[in-house]
Amino acid sequence: MGADLRAVFRLRGSTRCRPGYTPPVDEVPAAALVEWHRATRRAFPFRTPLPREPWAVLVSEVMAQQTQIDRVVPYWERFMARFPTVEALAGAPEGDVLELWSGLGYYRRARSLQEAARAIVEHGWPRTARELAALPGIGPYTAAAVAAFCFGDSEPPVDGNVARVAARIHRLALPLGDRKLLVAGRELLSGLSEAWPAAEVFEAVMELGATLCSPSSPRCLLCPLRPKCEAAHHGDQDRYPLPRPQRSTEDQRWVAIWVEREDGRVLLRQVQGPLLAGLWLPPLRPLAEGDVPRDVAGALASGHGFAGRLLPCLPVEHGITHRRITVLPFLLLAEPRAAELPPDLRWAEPGAPGLATSSLLGKLMRVCRPA
Ligand code: SF4
Repeated sequence: MGADLRAVFRLRGSTRCRPGYTPPVDEVPAAALVEWHRATRRAFPFRTPLPREPWAVLVSEVMAQQTQIDRVVPYWERFMARFPTVEALAGAPEGDVLELWSGLGYYRRARSLQEAARAIVEHGWPRTARELAALPGIGPYTAAAVAAFCFGDSEPPVDGNVARVAARIHRLALPLGDRKLLVAGRELLSGLSEAWPAAEVFEAVMELGATLCSPSSPRCLLCPLRPKCEAAHHGDQDRYPLPRPQRSTEDQRWVAIWVEREDGRVLLRQVQGPLLAGLWLPPLRPLAEGDVPRDVAGALASGHGFAGRLLPCLPVEHGITHRRITVLPFLLLAEPRAAELPPDLRWAEPGAPGLATSSLLGKLMRVCRPA
């Protein structure tokens, strides 16, 4: 057992139910796991035979960071058709990248991926997890996954699925994201991969966590790791891992103006950030303490060269990470504007395919569209 794992289990007095327990990492039935994986693994276009093409894997891993892997497939196919190589993304205009990312959210990831692509074009592909983790926006998990699946590195990639499996196998009462659980996940993968190709074992445990060992209803009767799973033995799988500590939420209020032409096109502005930067949305402005929403909406309209009657619409709730934002929209009944729009404004169909926007646009459309 590695020193790291010994450190984890020294802590076990407070995290485990049975004192003196030694985790059976080296006894876990790796052969049954690999056999199960070969028989049941889901086919994805980026899951080609090992070793894999790093660009395809990197894009899929970055896309899957906040989205279930099966939902990623159409976005990945569209993105790879437009940016089939790292060079294609490195040289693309940012607007094109954001448009192809539309629907996945977390646009900062798309920007970081482009920065990483530029670094790879300049310096070549890093081949180890440690080197890959130095690329912009590439965390330890993604770096280890690309290094293992594409370059044969043996650094174990521990995502939330692997951490959940480790927590249940060893009955570790720790929240996802806890460093000790990360260490337990790495030790689990390392122990399992001693007698098997590491990348295949890594993917098998990740797949097991994503399919059988689901957060709320694990299907233990089908699980190849069940003979060594302490939580399954005790029948308390639901208790592991612990829920993540809640991050305190921050409430904000914003004002938006909705200006729509007769042809159904709506005035959109490219947001300058820090939130939603680069996306096209109706003009928005955060409200400060004591601001009168209608006055702010009027100022927002005149600041964009529009004047007219403002009609309040129903408020819209929108979340961005830990922020809970209430948007107060106003429908602006304005005369058509003859002057040409500056580059950060455009008239656009709200549902147009490929528009780099946020789901907030759809929410505003539902409450603001004139009948
Ligand atoms: S036996 Fe059940 S709880 Fe244990 S790893 Fe398998 S699916 Fe998860």
